[in-house]
Amino acid sequence: MKDILVVGSINMDLVINVDEMPKKGQTILGENFNQIPGGKGANQAVAVARLGGNVAMIGKVGQDNFGNKLIQTMNSDGVDTSFIKSEKDISTGVALITVDRSGENSIVVAPGANYEIEKKDIDKAKKLIEYSKIVITQLEIPIEIVEHTLSKAKENGKYTILNPAPAQVLDRDIIKNIDLLTPNETELEILSGISIKNEEDIRKAAQKLIDLGIKELIITLGDSGCIYVNKNTFKKYDAYKVVPVDTTGAGDSFNAAIAVGLSHEKDIDEIIDFALKVGALAVTKEGAQSSLPYIDEVLDFKG
Ligand code: ADP
Repeated sequence: MKDILVVGSINMDLVINVDEMPKKGQTILGENFNQIPGGKGANQAVAVARLGGNVAMIGKVGQDNFGNKLIQTMNSDGVDTSFIKSEKDISTGVALITVDRSGENSIVVAPGANYEIEKKDIDKAKKLIEYSKIVITQLEIPIEIVEHTLSKAKENGKYTILNPAPAQVLDRDIIKNIDLLTPNETELEILSGISIKNEEDIRKAAQKLIDLGIKELIITLGDSGCIYVNKNTFKKYDAYKVVPVDTTGAGDSFNAAIAVGLSHEKDIDEIIDFALKVGALAVTKEGAQSSLPYIDEVLDFKG
């Protein structure tokens, strides 16, 4: 019995630090090379586990070294990986990431196995859905799988979270099954079709999505914190002040913290305060999974 089920992507991030980005046709020497487990689904599952949540994941990798290693690291973090399928003749998802001296990055993702998840893979994991309280997914897997997951979760009376990243316009069949949507500002703009320049625009965009059937939104605003919206509420929360090192993983750890808070049935102010601490801690370290905080660090964090 798991409280939280994550359905999503699993990638190996291949990261090279460079002085300057190569120009078209140019070959340059990088400084160092790191293989860091990533993929929004896997990041969120690992983040939930590190925050003490009880979590299982549905996803897909290839039968290759990256796939084996990714499953192994998720297991060692305490994620139930029994429904992560390892499939022959496809490659595990990889992201080729170049980071320059100023911290700017350029990323190419080959989704590989993530795009081979099929509806039957979700149906086979029926028990995981039935026994979970919360189902969370993102948009790094095929959209029809996102739709199927949310619809199965709602059929079973579960609370659903969609972290709409990377953003794309969503149709009604998806929207009607979302309890909580967690976009950042750019994602909110794409989802609502409303250009966002100030808080009033955020209010309008959120209202538009609520009118379409989404019950709650938490809009993340980077170092400005976040905004919680439901039919009757619009409330802004400030971020904790930290010295940022690398913002990768902030959104994923924030989403995981929200799921953990909801699974403990805390009130919304307390849940958001927990997530703001988690998000702030994640930006103080480099990398995706390497930056996801553990519950003890969060409890010790004074802000
Ligand atoms: P995403 O990575 O999905 O764009 P955000 O950048 O909005 O998401 O970050 C998610 C959350 O992480 C924010 O709502 C905030 O709580 C926290 N966070 C992000 N950047 C910072 C920062 N520089 N300082 C403090 N908290 C941050």
